[in-house]
Amino acid sequence: RAASNAFVTHLPTGIHGQDRVQKYVERAQTRLEHPSLHEPKSLLDGQVVAIKDNIWTARFPTSCASGILQGFQSPRDANVVNALEQAGAMVIGKTNMDEFGMGSHSTNSYKGGVRNNAVPGLHRSAGGSSGGSAMAVLNGQCRIALATDTGGSVRLPAAYTGLIGFKPSYGRLSRHGVVPYANSLDTVGIIGKDAEDILRTFRQLDRPDTNDPTCINAATRRRIADLKSARYRQRSGSTIRLIRKPSPQRVENSNFPVDRRRRYPGLVGRTDWAQVIGVPAEYNIAELSDSVREAWNRTLSQLDARGHTIVPISLPTTKAALSAYYVLAPAEASSNLAKYDGIRYGVRCSNSETQPDQTPTSPLYSHTRGAGFGDEVKRRILLGTYSLSSAGINNYFIQAQKIRRLVQREFDSVFSLPNPLRTHTITPLTETGVDYIICPTAPTPPPRLIDLKSSTPFDAYMNDVLTVPASLAGLPAISVPAPVAPESRYTDFANVGIQVIGQYGDDEALVRFVHVEL
Ligand code: GLN
Repeated sequence: RAASNAFVTHLPTGIHGQDRVQKYVERAQTRLEHPSLHEPKSLLDGQVVAIKDNIWTARFPTSCASGILQGFQSPRDANVVNALEQAGAMVIGKTNMDEFGMGSHSTNSYKGGVRNNAVPGLHRSAGGSSGGSAMAVLNGQCRIALATDTGGSVRLPAAYTGLIGFKPSYGRLSRHGVVPYANSLDTVGIIGKDAEDILRTFRQLDRPDTNDPTCINAATRRRIADLKSARYRQRSGSTIRLIRKPSPQRVENSNFPVDRRRRYPGLVGRTDWAQVIGVPAEYNIAELSDSVREAWNRTLSQLDARGHTIVPISLPTTKAALSAYYVLAPAEASSNLAKYDGIRYGVRCSNSETQPDQTPTSPLYSHTRGAGFGDEVKRRILLGTYSLSSAGINNYFIQAQKIRRLVQREFDSVFSLPNPLRTHTITPLTETGVDYIICPTAPTPPPRLIDLKSSTPFDAYMNDVLTVPASLAGLPAISVPAPVAPESRYTDFANVGIQVIGQYGDDEALVRFVHVEL
């Protein structure tokens, strides 16, 4: 367990921590002995959760795995942490990550990198930047972990560790108390082993928050729900759709207690309609490894056999999306990280005795930032500062914004549901539109850590090629382990993740779909 380096701060280390663990154990015992006395606060009551180290927690420091924030204690819990605790969940610690979320292997951490030790002797990448959250779930140290996904940081670790990683639609979960990396892309995501856990957690957190201006308000949520239900009603009357019954076996296998099922109807997943699945030709890139391509094929065949319709689609701007992401995310990051100067925030560099002076050329400023940030963060600051400068803004930042808009429009043009953020009226169902898009999460299975030593930063950026388009468009996306194939020729520790992307706001249907069908 310790070998995976999943945690930055872990509960049982202090006396305070021991007390809480004891309290948790007692609570669990009472519940077992007197089930009728204990009224659970929610479906998450008693669940152990871990929190990525860039999300504020009042009980633990929040370092974002950066030397510059060592020992930083936030004044309060993030909105999402607060919501989990109110629901009775128990926070066990803060998980390791790439510094400020920048990376794809969770190796850029001042605490030392995360190791995916699922296969003894062969340390693989745990994915990034939420590799610590994934390893904590994989090792059984928590039931679910909260993480953040800016360009794939929840989905990639889930794919590399054989778990489920869900990035909700942008703006559904509050970012209040989440240390920003790139505000226009940042989302809070959930990693777990089971889709029902993910759904329960999502439901607990899916609410408006006036402290986060990008968190969608109650009126918009109602409008989205109305649009969706009107569309689904319209569809259920449609004769071209096959009506399918939920598999009784599926409901039986569900580990969900029957009495709770009655109390919380509708939580157990089911999809009644045969769905139309889009397969984007542009995601079939040359860099896909054979095992990933085979897993993608296998998933599609399985869905086809279950009565879903598979159709090819085209998303031509996919190729440019990665470059656009790596202009926009560093640009926002360079602005966000300006406050870590040793004066407003950050550990002041001790070898600087100069008076505080906020000009970027002062020795205090440069010593603090030079010593506090890691190499990848410095690279992003340089990149972002340049693309926002008068010399670079037209050729880089503005172009990248245009590409982002194209990516959003292309996604909207292929979905059968309209994007509720752009449409206020219910338009007729498009017969050619798709319900979900299915593609791999990462181009390859998890690489070996030893091989990463000789790789370049660009190799790491390449891992995000299949995840950043959904981030640019703010769409919900989930990575689930590919169906197992005992007869597969590929034995290379085939942790392959399959990504399912849904229309904006269709989050619950997306999680239910993967729960029932994959
Ligand atoms: N790997 C991507 C990056 O370094 C994504 C990170 C994230 O989603 N936080 O920017």
